[in-house]
Amino acid sequence: MGDVVIVGGGVMGCAAAWSLSRHARVTLLEQFGPHHDRGSSHGSSRIFRLAYPDPFYVDLAVRALPLWRDLEQESGQPVLELTGAVDHGPRELIEPIAAALRDAGRPYEILHPAAAAERWPMLRFDEHVLFHPEAGRVHADRATAAFRQLAVNAGADIRHGVRVASVTAVGDARAEVVTDAGEVFTADAVVLAVGGWAPDLVARTVPGLPPLRVTQEQPVHFPATDPLSWPSFLHYRGTDASEPGAYGLGSVDGVKVGFHGVGPQVDPDRRDRTVDPAALDRVVAYAEQWVPGVDTTGAVASTCLYTITPDHDFVLDRHGPVTVLGGFSGHGFKFAPLIGRIAADLVAGRRPSERFALGTR
Ligand SMILES: Cc1cc2nc3c(=O)[nH]c(=O)nc-3n(C[C@H](O)[C@H](O)[C@H](O)COP(=O)(O)OP(=O)(O)OC[C@H]3O[C@@H](n4cnc5c(N)ncnc54)[C@H](O)[C@@H]3O)c2cc1C
Repeated sequence: MGDVVIVGGGVMGCAAAWSLSRHARVTLLEQFGPHHDRGSSHGSSRIFRLAYPDPFYVDLAVRALPLWRDLEQESGQPVLELTGAVDHGPRELIEPIAAALRDAGRPYEILHPAAAAERWPMLRFDEHVLFHPEAGRVHADRATAAFRQLAVNAGADIRHGVRVASVTAVGDARAEVVTDAGEVFTADAVVLAVGGWAPDLVARTVPGLPPLRVTQEQPVHFPATDPLSWPSFLHYRGTDASEPGAYGLGSVDGVKVGFHGVGPQVDPDRRDRTVDPAALDRVVAYAEQWVPGVDTTGAVASTCLYTITPDHDFVLDRHGPVTVLGGFSGHGFKFAPLIGRIAADLVAGRRPSERFALGTR
């Protein structure tokens, strides 16, 4: 594979570095420091789950699970803890999830809301409840650091504080990367894993990027008793999208609760990352009603970016020497080690999945 430059040191760029550094000389360029909180990958927790209504994503999560275990084994770091997940909401939204898990041969249970409330008194439940055990949390910062460290151990050169200004293909098998400081890197392949910065850099580099909406989301951590024992949870509120879906999970920082994809559209270079008190109040009100196990007086909000495609499918494709990993639409973290493998496959010339191709949406 020769020389590969990866732009972006969030979880996806680091996972790509982990996979690619086995076969190529990898240089990763990241504009900020190693643990920065201006993108999408920071913090202590992300939900891992197999449960999706779409069998395509169930299959991806099933494939990602052993790769998380590989990462743990290679790094010696515990990263993924399975405490199970409860999904609840209208029957017509829960049943397709059950069907997808059943068709994939994965275990799950359907519970009466009263039985669920007895089992998990820290939560209140809507009309239909599904539990699946192959779910829980990934320690986000630890996972990204483990990918990065293993890449470095395999010879990758990871540089922080380097912002890439442009990437230019030179024919089909060579590309030139120029930094803001005027440094030039040439490589056989470039991987762009720039999260919320994709609408600028990726759109300037390859054709066919779907329209991306970058939003500032605002999850809230609450103190709770024994948060690490909590199942993660997803609450589908109504079938008409009038109420945003809510999610939550335990972490070392307490129990995180948020609404999925409700934040305002932002420019990642210009947002001020200040907490919106009205949005915080809405999460607190939700927790008061549905998450009785948290202490709502101790709410702490933070901000994070979603990069949303029109259909919420990712963009994983290659154009000439440039591979794009993007549009993770607020649900990509759980797949990160698999995305790393897919990046290496794309760089090696394998075809992308049609679902993730450039120019199809
Ligand atoms: C609040 C919140 C909750 C979430 N919860 C879940 C969850 O429970 N489960 C789940 O699976 N997913 C979840 N996600 C989604 C998941 O976190 C993201 O899909 C994932 O982190 C995206 O990683 P990334 O590497 O694409 O982006 P980023 O982490 O943003 O990384 C991109 C990097 O590229 C760098 N960069 C950009 N432009 C340049 C440039 N020109 N030069 C150099 N560097 C550059 C940036 O500085 C950044 O570090 C959540 C996201 C948020 C915001």
